[in-house]
Order: sequence, then C-alpha cells, then structure tokens
Amino acid sequence: MRVLVLGSGVLGAAVAARVAARGHEAHVLEAGPTPASGTSATSYAWVNGNKKRPASYRELNASAIAEHHRLEGVERGWLVPNGHLEFASTDEHREELTARVEGLEAAGYPASFVSVSAAALLEPDVRVEPDALVAWFPGEAHCYPEVFVAEMLGTAGVTVETGASVVAVSAGGVELADGTVRTADRVITCLGRHTGRLHPDVPMVEPVRGNAAVGVLARTVPAPVRLSRVVTTESLNLRPAGGGALLVHALDQDPLVSPSDPVPPEVLTTLRDRIHERVGLPVALASAYVGLRSIAADGLPVVGPVGAGYVVVAHSAVTLAPLLGELAAREVCDGVAQERLAPYRVERFRLPYAPAAQMH
Ligand SMILES: Cc1cc2nc3c(=O)[nH]c(=O)nc-3n(C[C@H](O)[C@H](O)[C@H](O)COP(=O)(O)OP(=O)(O)OC[C@H]3O[C@@H](n4cnc5c(N)ncnc54)[C@H](O)[C@@H]3O)c2cc1C
Repeated sequence: MRVLVLGSGVLGAAVAARVAARGHEAHVLEAGPTPASGTSATSYAWVNGNKKRPASYRELNASAIAEHHRLEGVERGWLVPNGHLEFASTDEHREELTARVEGLEAAGYPASFVSVSAAALLEPDVRVEPDALVAWFPGEAHCYPEVFVAEMLGTAGVTVETGASVVAVSAGGVELADGTVRTADRVITCLGRHTGRLHPDVPMVEPVRGNAAVGVLARTVPAPVRLSRVVTTESLNLRPAGGGALLVHALDQDPLVSPSDPVPPEVLTTLRDRIHERVGLPVALASAYVGLRSIAADGLPVVGPVGAGYVVVAHSAVTLAPLLGELAAREVCDGVAQERLAPYRVERFRLPYAPAAQMH
C-alpha cells in the first residue's frame, strides 16, 4: 500500500514510521524547506500526563510515555527520562498541587511529595522558596523533537519530499500548490495547526494574542548550571536544552506576545531576570521565539477518518506522537478500529440538532 503522510512534525513523522514498519510505502509531503518546520520546532516538549483531563485522556498520555520507551527513545537519543519536579509556594498553587498529586497517585500515575532538601539533591542549582511544597513525578520526561522526527523519518520505507505544499485531498491522492498531483491508496493528514485549511470539518483554535494557542519560549546560551530535568515553579519553567543550554517558559508571559511580532524586549528582560533568580547566575538568552499550538476547539485530539482522508492532530503531540502514530497505523493499514480513539473522532463537533446542511 502507498500512503501519503502530510506534514513532517512529530505526528507526521511518527505516523509515517508506523506505516512503514508494517511494510507499506510511506511518502511524507512537507511544505517547509526541512522536516519539522512547524510547531514541533518550537515546543517545550515535556512528556507527561500530568494535568490532562478527563481521566481517559490522562491515561492516553500515560500510555504514550510508555510508547516513547517501547520505541527506545532513551537509547535513540530523543527522550530524557529524568522526571519532573514542581515547586509550589503560594497558597493557591499549594492547594491545587496537593489535590492534583493526590488524584494522580490514586489513579496509579507516579506522583508523590518530597522535601525541599530531597529536591535539592536532584536539582542542587535551582533556587526555590525554603517552605515550598514539592511534587515529584518520576515517570515524566522531556524530548528533543528534532531527534524524534529524524529517528522516525529514518525508518526504512519512509521517503520525504520537502517544499511540497498540499492544497487538496481526494480519495486517490493529493494536489500540490504547484498543480501537480501525488497518488496514493490512503492519505493521512498531520498538518498541526494548519489542519483546518485542508479539512474545514476540524475546528482548530486560530492563534491570536492572548489565547491558549500562543506561547513564548527562550533558549539560553550554555551555562554552568546543573539542570537535569523539567522543573516547574510559579515564575518560571525550565529544562535542559542540550549542551548546557536551558529552555525556559513563563506561562504569564504568553499573553504578552503575538503570533506575528518579535518577542517584546520587556518579556526578554523578565525571562532573563527570572532565570537569574532561579539559578543564581546571570545567563544570556541565545534566542526567544513564539510558538503556535495546534489545538482543536475542545482541546482534545482529533484522530480518524475525515472526508476522503484520515486526520491526526493534537495538542501535547510531543507526548502523544508515538502512540497516536501506532493507533492511526492500526486503523489505516491494518483496518482495525481502535476503541481508545473513540472519544477523539471529528463527529463529536457536530451538534445533534444541527441541520444536515450546516454540517461540514
Ligand atoms: C510553546 C509551546 C509549548 C509546548 N509544550 C509542549 C509540551 O510541553 N509537551 C507536549 O507534548 N507538547 C507541547 N507543545 C505542543 C506540541 O509541540 C505540538 O502539539 C506538536 O509539535 C504538534 O506537532 P504536529 O506534528 O502535529 O504539527 P507540526 O509540528 O506543526 O507539523 C506540521 C507540519 O506540516 C507542515 N505543513 C503545514 N501545512 C502544510 C501543507 N499544506 N502541505 C504540506 N505540509 C504542510 C508544516 O510545515 C509542519 O512541518 C507545545 C507547543 C508550544 C507552541
């Protein structure tokens, strides 16, 4: 079978690998000049099932962490399985974190409280309030998405065509912006936030300043700081970015950036100040960028047949990619419907009382 996979972010790459692993031809069409030209290159890439709701979605994310391990993500270099520490110092955060850890523990998700001194053994250079409440999530990880994409696209049977912008999907293949066509037995769309352009039935959140689809990240220069894992605090989230650099995200800065403008100087100053406060050293930023999330209208993934094709799109896709790639390949290639995908069909967006003419 010849399968066209549209998009080469973490989802397209994972889908293509699982299709090819079954002995099928997986041809990836990517509009950008290189693979992973979209959101996957601008992700915090924390691999977790931590704040995911409802329970079935948390379980999907937890299974996806296991799938990263099953595909040998640690050995192949994309997964850093060093867990996650979260520090709460305000009353509101303490209360929320207490309830969350208790709920996760009860559900069998690895989560517990540790002392500040125990946390300091794990992350000696991170400065936190001495009376902070500390949660420890040992099963969580972070990912290097470009390494993941490279490993997936390197699977025997996967071919990649860059500079190939798809404008239409039909039963027998796709049409490109240059007017040429590519034929296939099946088409799987993994276009992230651009999914709605080819499949208007999939309602995506349009990234605009101040909404959940827009986030700002910064990468530091290499710094003499010991940091081994994802660390969450009220003022700053930080994790290793490779080679001694740090990747930082301050959630309260996200509403201050816009999808089309450079990161404002005052946001850069805030990020530098908070890094200094958290690691006790002034560390310069190497880059700062705005990332645009791919979020369907209700925040949950959309996976399954849509029109003449099959769509896979999700926020938290760095976490979910290995699992969604496998489940999609079982449905498209093996013809076996996956019960776990039932909550994520596009049909959920159709109101029962909507006249048929209003349905896309
Ligand atoms: C600030 C930020 C923080 C995040 N943090 C996390 C996190 O901690 N954990 C987590 O799991 N997730 C996180 N995410 C989300 C995660 O990064 C995304 O869900 C994921 O990268 C989406 O991957 P994708 O393959 O679906 O889309 P993309 O990576 O966007 O890939 C889609 C590809 O399709 C290509 N394309 C677009 N249009 C066309 C076309 N017409 N024809 C051909 N190709 C086309 C694009 O060039 C792109 O390469 C974060 C995102 C952001 C922005």
